[in-house]
Amino acid sequence: MRLFPLPYKIWIHTLGLVSQPVCPVCRRPNHRHVLSILCPHCKPSLTPQPYCRQCGRYLPPLDMFQGRTLDVCRFCRTWKTRLSRAVSIAPYSGNWREAILHFKTYPYGDLARQMAHALVRLTKQRLPWSSITGIVPVPARQNTENHPAHRLAELFSNLNTYPIRPVLRFIKKTQPQRGLKRKERLSNLKYSMRASIPLKGETLLLIDDVMTTGATLHECARALNAAGAEKIYAATLAQGVWE
Ligand SMILES: [Zn+2]
Ligand SMILES: [Zn+2]
Repeated sequence: MRLFPLPYKIWIHTLGLVSQPVCPVCRRPNHRHVLSILCPHCKPSLTPQPYCRQCGRYLPPLDMFQGRTLDVCRFCRTWKTRLSRAVSIAPYSGNWREAILHFKTYPYGDLARQMAHALVRLTKQRLPWSSITGIVPVPARQNTENHPAHRLAELFSNLNTYPIRPVLRFIKKTQPQRGLKRKERLSNLKYSMRASIPLKGETLLLIDDVMTTGATLHECARALNAAGAEKIYAATLAQGVWE
């Protein structure tokens, strides 16, 4: 006699109902818990929507631009970043923002693993996956035990064969970025980082939890370029919403 005559997924579903799991973000009951830790309300909608081919920012409704489809956003048309290209799973708003705040508080749970999975999927879809030679977390400004970008890069690296290279260091003191405008952020961070090893000819993927204006990723890319890296891409869980 078979011990488990029912298909695996039905067993998982039944167990989920018995333990009455809740979504960690909105606390709604989530019967699909074992298969997907976030409830359908909190999972970012991955329906196709226009995004900037350069920085990955999701574009505002087309009518703002008289119905024209744009390839690059208004920031990328006026400012040249050091990044070859960047991608983000979704805008930093609503329940997805709450989910990221939850991940920052509990970076070792199942939610963190699920987020890393989603980031790998997106990177495979939108970036030249096979050319990447290493994963670089955006460095922390001060010594801290809980560093979400490093944790995310670690999980990302565990899901594939790319080595994690935590090579970036801050070499000068910077002001907190919060409240600063884009230009102020750029000058605050300018020449603030250095790579600890030579990276000649490498194609690297920077990982961070949230991209706000892109100033930090730009400065990371400058430091990696200075160490010899050829191309630098970036992947983040979310991006600052359109200002
Ligand atoms: Zn939820
Ligand atoms: Zn852009």
